[in-house]
Amino acid sequence: MKATFDKWQREHEQQHQTLSWLRCVLSRDKLHVEMLYCEVCRKYEARLCSLRNFSNSWIKGSANLKLSNMLDHARSDVHLTAMSKLCADMAKENGVCST
Ligand SMILES: [Zn+2]
Repeated sequence: MKATFDKWQREHEQQHQTLSWLRCVLSRDKLHVEMLYCEVCRKYEARLCSLRNFSNSWIKGSANLKLSNMLDHARSDVHLTAMSKLCADMAKENGVCST
């Protein structure tokens, strides 16, 4: 459900910065979430694919809509590497790093 997705995005923002990466693909009626993907891993895919444990399921889109799947991604090495690259790039642009 789209409402569940919005709730996850808000509730896990503080711990996992979900607002900056957690995205979804909606069904045609816009009420249901069909896939989840990670915008940040997508952005840095070219720099992540050489990592051990690299998996492109969150880049292509994951049809596993469980909360545990989302949290596993949030804590994965590949994702954390992508987040630190994002942080470094933002720091270059703005001179600050929020994480
Ligand atoms: Zn990610």
